[in-house]
Formats: sequence, C-alpha cells, structure tokens
Amino acid sequence: MQYRQDPKSGNNLSALGFGCMRLPSSTLGRIDLEASEALVLQAVEQGINYFDTAYLYRGNEEALGIIVERNDLRNRIFIATKLPHSRCETLEDIERFFAEQKARLRTDYFDYYLIHNVTNLTQWDKLVALGIEEWIDRKKRAGEIRQIGFSYHGSQSDFPHLIDAYAWDFCQIQYNYVNVNYQAGRAGLELAASRGLPVIIMEPLLGGKLADGLPPKAVEAFKRCDPTTAPAAWGLRWIWNHPQATVVLSGMGTLEQLTENVACAEHALPNALSDNELACIDDVVDIFDESNKVNCTGCNYCMPCPRGINIPGCFSAYNASFTHGRYEGLKQYVMCTGAGSNDPRWASDCVDCGACVKNCPQHIAIPDELKAVRKRLQPALFPHIIRLGSKLMG
Ligand code: SF4
Ligand code: SF4
Repeated sequence: MQYRQDPKSGNNLSALGFGCMRLPSSTLGRIDLEASEALVLQAVEQGINYFDTAYLYRGNEEALGIIVERNDLRNRIFIATKLPHSRCETLEDIERFFAEQKARLRTDYFDYYLIHNVTNLTQWDKLVALGIEEWIDRKKRAGEIRQIGFSYHGSQSDFPHLIDAYAWDFCQIQYNYVNVNYQAGRAGLELAASRGLPVIIMEPLLGGKLADGLPPKAVEAFKRCDPTTAPAAWGLRWIWNHPQATVVLSGMGTLEQLTENVACAEHALPNALSDNELACIDDVVDIFDESNKVNCTGCNYCMPCPRGINIPGCFSAYNASFTHGRYEGLKQYVMCTGAGSNDPRWASDCVDCGACVKNCPQHIAIPDELKAVRKRLQPALFPHIIRLGSKLMG
C-alpha cells in the first residue's frame, strides 16, 4: 500500500481510503454484516487504514463499530465520521449526535471528525452562533476529536471563505477528472494544500459512472491508450497523480473491487501519468461531457421521495439512454420504476414538492430533470401499455 502523510497530524494515511457508504447490503438496504466484515478485514490486511462513515449512512456506523470491536481493530485504523449539522438547532443536538456516534462506533474518540456536507458559509456561521468552536476546543482537549474538518459540496467561489473561516485540520472534497471545475475543484484542492491541509477526495469515480458507466467510445479511447488498465483504475490513477490528494475514498462493495483498487494504489504515485495518458483522459472527458446529461452520483441523499420515485434510478436510466442508446435507457427505466409490480412509480408521479432538492449535494433541479426523463423515456400511454403487458403475461 502507498501511504501519504497528513501534514497536520503527521499520520501516515493509506492513499486508498475505505468509503463505508457502499458496504455490501441486501436488496432491502440492510447491511450484510458478515460480507462487510470479510471486506473490512481484507482491506486492513491489504494496508488500508482510513475508514470513512457518517451518521446519515443508514446502519453504517453501527456495522463498522461491531466489526472494529469484535476484531480489535481500533488501534490499527483511523475512523472518520460526520456530524449531520443540518439536523442541529442547538449545541445540545450536536452533543447528542456526537454521543450517539461514539456509542454506534463503540469508541471514545474519532481520529477525523467532519461537519457533513457543507454547501455554503452561512451553514458554518449558524454552527458558530450555536457555539461549535468552543465545543470543538473542548472535544479536542478531551481527546475525543483528534482532527476536525468538513466535507464540501458548495460552489468554487465559497470554498476559500470556508477554508479561512476556521483553523481546520483537514477537508474532504469531490474531485475526479470530469469535475475539475465543479464544487471545490482543482482550485480548491490546490488552495487547501497550500494552507497545509490534507485533502480527502470523495467521488473519485462519480458514483461508479467513471468505472462501468462510461460511454463505449470513452472505454475504447482508454483501451487504445493502454489495453491493460480498466476505466476505474484510470480514474483513481488520475487523482493520485495529484500530490495534493492525501486519501482517495472508494466505496468498495466487493472483494474484487478492493483487490483491483489496492493493486492500483500501490503504483499510482504523484506525477506518474505521462503526457500521452493525460491527453487520453482529456479525450475521455470530451466524450463523457457530450452524453452525461444529469450529474447524479447515485448518493441517495434525496431519498426517500414521498411519492416513491426512485430518483437516482431514473437519472441513471436517462443518462444510459445517451451513453448506451435509447433501448438500454428504456430497459433501465422500466426496471427502476418497478413497472411490473402492483405499484410502479414513474418520473411523471413527481408532484414538485421540492423535498428532495435541498438534500442534493450536486444541486440538481430534480423535478425539472424528472420532466426531461419523462419526455425521453416515457412516451404517452407507456405506463398503461406496460401494465397491460404485465397483466397479460400473468
Ligand atoms: S419533488 Fe418530486 S421527486 Fe422530489 S421528493 Fe417531491 S415528488 Fe419526489
Ligand atoms: S439526485 Fe442528487 S441527491 Fe439524489 S442520488 Fe443523485 S446526486 Fe444524490
């Protein structure tokens, strides 16, 4: 495993971090503890020492806590988790979430603690007004928080203000080769590093889109340049090419993904990509941009929709209709709506209530985009035809 030093704490962090958000789960969304345990143990065995979770990832902190405790891993790994600040109206709320997180993760301290999903300075100012700065000081003095940071999904222009608003120990940003100028972006990465902060990278493969969701033309472009490197490895290598990137989080759900990513992490050193390889990635970006219509990462923060719509599923199908053809998009759309069930939910079921929009870190105008989904993938009478077809087929 390649390790990169956190310049603030001196910790040697594995260049590949384990994003626990996508731990193996059943179809009902319950975490498969046995499979997750096998994966986490294998990750530790392979040298991964940074594990990222959050209060808002359902069942995630509890699962990681059980695995860490029963395998005596606490002193072998760094645990990062996040405060759901949007649910905090008082300092007591913050304290209550923190205590609950310690109980869930079965630990007395967090190595890395983040304010989760900050999108603008006003949110931080609100927490300051509640007294969070003094609270952090107390937690650090007590050794309950070792490093304090934030995860960011706001604009590029707000990022410098947030970086300078507090004496942060680290930050976490979204970064990948199609998001160079999106959110904090490259400018944010360079700014944070220039302030001496370690930078944790999330969404390096844009929710898997840069792994198995690339248009065939983009996959071909990669193959022409290097037939032995898979698209996911291209995406990860591109991030590790940046010396400012300390840890790259990958939400690994299978042993196969883990093995591939670890193998890639061992050799992907800073400034290792050739000019030819960088030019190839530029070509892929052009191809991707042509067909990626909705920038949804599949994070599920917008869910559940009160109307039961599978929002990320609709956007995935919609994008697939451009990257892989309309037939593939239609097929995926029919599956994600539950069209064959007694209670399918179509993009047209959206009543524009807006409940989802405020939770989307990608700032997608979800109801508007669902209208576009409907227009492309749901011709008039389509739901009725599908229902009739299902009935006839029993
Ligand atoms: S705006 Fe539409 S998609 Fe979003 S939560 Fe409301 S009904 Fe669901
Ligand atoms: S629409 Fe936004 S919140 Fe919902 S899954 Fe996509 S990126 Fe996440």
